[in-house]
Amino acid sequence: MSAAPAAHGRGRPCVITRRATFSASHRYWLPELSADDNRARFGPCSLAPGHGHNYELIVAMGGALDADGMVLNLSEVKHAIRHQVTGQLDFRCLNEAWPEFNLEQPEGMLPTTEALCLAIWRRLAPHLPVMGLRLYEQPDLWADVLDDSMEAFLSIRTHFAAAHRLARPELSPEENDAIYGKCARPHGHGHNYLLDVTVRGRIDPRTGMVCDLAALQQLVADLVVEPFDHTFLNKDVAHFATTVPTAENIALHIADLLSGPIAATGASLHKVRLQESPNNAAEVFAETPQLGLVPQALEALAVG
Ligand SMILES: [Zn+2]
Ligand SMILES: [Zn+2]
Repeated sequence: MSAAPAAHGRGRPCVITRRATFSASHRYWLPELSADDNRARFGPCSLAPGHGHNYELIVAMGGALDADGMVLNLSEVKHAIRHQVTGQLDFRCLNEAWPEFNLEQPEGMLPTTEALCLAIWRRLAPHLPVMGLRLYEQPDLWADVLDDSMEAFLSIRTHFAAAHRLARPELSPEENDAIYGKCARPHGHGHNYLLDVTVRGRIDPRTGMVCDLAALQQLVADLVVEPFDHTFLNKDVAHFATTVPTAENIALHIADLLSGPIAATGASLHKVRLQESPNNAAEVFAETPQLGLVPQALEALAVG
C-alpha cells in the first residue's frame, strides 16, 4: 500500500521550465590572430562591428514541491533570470557585457551559443536549482548545457524534401497494405523532412566552440541534404534499395553517415531527430550510454 499523498503534493519531485528572451550582439574576433585568419576562421561572424540575435533561453529546474504545490515560486524564478541574465544582456554587446567574453584577457572566450549557455549556467546555478539550460541563437541553432563542466550539446536544424514508399518487396500488395497502409501505395508519396543533428563536445576555452559550426553544417549539407533532397529515397539512395525507408530507418542511416565524419571534427554525434510530418518524428541516440542525458523537460518545450 502506498502512503497517502502529502498535502498539495508536498515532497514530490517535479521539473519545471521557464522561458526568457533577450536580444544581444556579438563578434567573433581573436586579437592573437591576424585579420585574415579571423576572417578565414569565423567568416561573416568576424565582421565589424558585429551582428545580433534574438536569443531564447529555456531554464529547467527540479525539486520537491513545497506546501503551496510549487517547486519554486515563479515570480522568484522570473526575478532571478532577469536579474542575473536578461537584464544584464538585453540590448547589449556580449563581448563587452560580461568579462567571460573579454577577449583581451587570456581566459576570455568567444561568445558562441554554447559558451553563452555555459556562462548563463554558471551565473544562474547559485540562485536556482538548474537542471538543464537550452539557448536558441536562432530557430535552427541551439545549445544545451547540463552542468558546469565544459561539456555542451550543439544542435543544428535543416530540412530536405523527399519521396518514399513503405513496402517490403518479398510481401504481397495485400500484406504490405496491412502493415504500411497508405504508405504502401505503389507510386510513393513525399515529405518535407525536418532534420535536427545534435553533437556533444567540450567547449574550447578560447574559441568557445565544441566544434567548427561551419564545418558541421557543411557535413550535414554534403552527406545528407545534397544526396537526399528532391529524391525518391527507395530508388535514388542506394541504402534504401534494400531497407524500408521508414522515418526510423532514415534517421538511423543519417546517424551512420554522420557519426565518423563528426568524430573527425572533435565532437561526437549525440542525436539525430528526423521529423517526417507535424505528427511523427524519429530520434536516434548515437551514443547509447548517453541516452539519459537529454532532459525531457527541455525537449517538451523546445520541440516545434
Ligand atoms: Zn552570431
Ligand atoms: Zn511517408
